[in-house]
Amino acid sequence: MFVTAIIAAGGTGRRVGAARPKQLIVVGGRTILERSVAAFLGHPAVSELVVALPREIAEDPPACLRGTVKPLRVVSGGLRRQDSVTNAFRAASPGADIIVIHDAVRPFVSPDLITRTIDAAAAVGAALAAIPARDTVKRSSDPAGAGWHLVAETLPRESIYLAQTPQAFRAHVLADALAFTGDATDEAALAERAGHPVRIVDGDASNIKITTPDDVVLAEAIARSGDERRGAERAEGAPGVIMRIGTGYDLHRLVEGRPLVLGGVTIPFDRGLQGHSDADAICHAVTDAVLGAAAAGDIGRHFPDSDARWRGASSLDLLARAVALVRDRGLAVSNVDVVVIAERPKLGPSIEAMRTKVAAALGVTPAQVSIKGKTNEGVGELGRNEAIAVHAVALLVRNS
Ligand code: MG
Repeated sequence: MFVTAIIAAGGTGRRVGAARPKQLIVVGGRTILERSVAAFLGHPAVSELVVALPREIAEDPPACLRGTVKPLRVVSGGLRRQDSVTNAFRAASPGADIIVIHDAVRPFVSPDLITRTIDAAAAVGAALAAIPARDTVKRSSDPAGAGWHLVAETLPRESIYLAQTPQAFRAHVLADALAFTGDATDEAALAERAGHPVRIVDGDASNIKITTPDDVVLAEAIARSGDERRGAERAEGAPGVIMRIGTGYDLHRLVEGRPLVLGGVTIPFDRGLQGHSDADAICHAVTDAVLGAAAAGDIGRHFPDSDARWRGASSLDLLARAVALVRDRGLAVSNVDVVVIAERPKLGPSIEAMRTKVAAALGVTPAQVSIKGKTNEGVGELGRNEAIAVHAVALLVRNS
């Protein structure tokens, strides 16, 4: 079964924070867009992703959407939500069996909820996550804006569900639904109008939609409790918790006529590292550490010099691709520690810039990246400044 995930992030709303579009609000150290995309990239049933973004973001997509191992296409959103989904649907593989649609502003969707929604759509044709109403529901007959409202009726609460996403559809059902041109706030409503049965799947209370500043406060708490829970599980060594460690090493000769690039930063020096592309030994060692932690081979296997695709590639880009590859296996970088053995130049002034660049490629914060410089005390080839060597370790944890 080929499943395409559509991440609907086409809205231009800035209700939450005026400074940036709501898709790029940071919660617990990651944008909500990245969290939502990661949930589907890491899901074993999902074959490809299409992300609908406002035009100005789609033209220069954030790093989390680049270099992913599963195919990921970015399309521009439309005026209405259903226009964005229509654009994304057109970009999906023609052979897709199931389309699962998710709002980027719901960053805490669980793998289990994604699975159940996809399975229900496969069985019935259409399905959505929804939670039962907990409050008593009143319908008002007064038009909005009157300043006050009278109750027209009290609805039987047992039959009321509040719609969430994901919502999933067999491809032909979604095609029928999107053929309706009337306005709708979700695709399930369009499928209902097209006469298709839509199954309700039990949603999660933590699968919140972030649209107001209050939501951001709640989202931070959810992100923190998730981090704490995972931290506690790790501390207790709870069964099923996965921690994996990897080590990487690289060495390049120093030669004249080359820039010295380490950790993505060009450092002023009279020589540079010899090698293909930028010969960035920090990125190469960290890439091997990340791949090693997942037992996923090494940099030479995934990005061989002999392949024209990688010949001119920046080593930061290759590092980001390695992270996407391990993320696809359900692993996330927890921290990285690096030792650079260089007799000269002094690395101190460049350390912060290198940490920032490497962290961005890893999709983590600089606080999760340590880079330390060492000399070789004048001993041997490294001590004679004929080469620079780098050791790295990376800790990966289950990305749930
Ligand atoms: Mg190398």
